[in-house]
Amino acid sequence: MKTDAYWILRFEHRLLVCTAGDTVFPCAPAGAFGCPESAIYVGEYLGLPCHAVDVDEFPQIAGAEPTPLRAIFTLAGPEVFALAGRATQLLDWRANHRYCGRCGTPTEIMADEPAMRCPACGLLAYPRLSPAVMVLVRDGEKLLLARSPHFKPGVYSALAGFVEAGETLEQCAVREVREEVGVEITKLRYFSSQPWPFPNSLMIAFFADYAGGAITPQPGEIEDAGWYLPTELPLLPDPVSIAWRLIDAALAA
Ligand SMILES: [Zn+2]
Repeated sequence: MKTDAYWILRFEHRLLVCTAGDTVFPCAPAGAFGCPESAIYVGEYLGLPCHAVDVDEFPQIAGAEPTPLRAIFTLAGPEVFALAGRATQLLDWRANHRYCGRCGTPTEIMADEPAMRCPACGLLAYPRLSPAVMVLVRDGEKLLLARSPHFKPGVYSALAGFVEAGETLEQCAVREVREEVGVEITKLRYFSSQPWPFPNSLMIAFFADYAGGAITPQPGEIEDAGWYLPTELPLLPDPVSIAWRLIDAALAA
């Protein structure tokens, strides 16, 4: 029986990535890394099952380096980044739901669905996803770009915020733009979405048209915001991000 699999090994917020050779993740038979029962199947990689596991130390593998998740996109491209992001989110979920949040009993891993179950009260904990809406507001050629105090110096992006309980994506888009810059929007148009595993967002990106109001940055949230012509753009986010693709698509339209 063939037992080889690919392994996404994590230790101290880094993943072990092979920087030489044809494969990004190490391939080994089950148990080669002393992997405990808690290994999580995350999908297929190069025709073999791929598992993720937290380890106490990385094994010595020639050419393999501990690598932050964010760097994997540049090293290995979007498909491998997606797999690594999924692995990271599932490992976090396992690590953060070892006990029932309602009664404190140690949880059990369910075999037939991605859930941790409390054997005492039956509470199920699924991997957490936090949907967030991103909106690029346009007024003719001009784009509304803003910067948060958390951005790298000089970088501006589209507006974004987390969806609140009971809210639709459309309501969230209107509220976020109103709160963050005091502007009204209309004609919301879906663009695309992207899992953003820092730590567990799903970014859902839209275009919208400007419908009124003067830009008033929300204190503490928005450091600066303004209208930008395509020829006078500030620094933009990393090309890994959906924000970059959204802005790029607006410029190409
Ligand atoms: Zn419980």
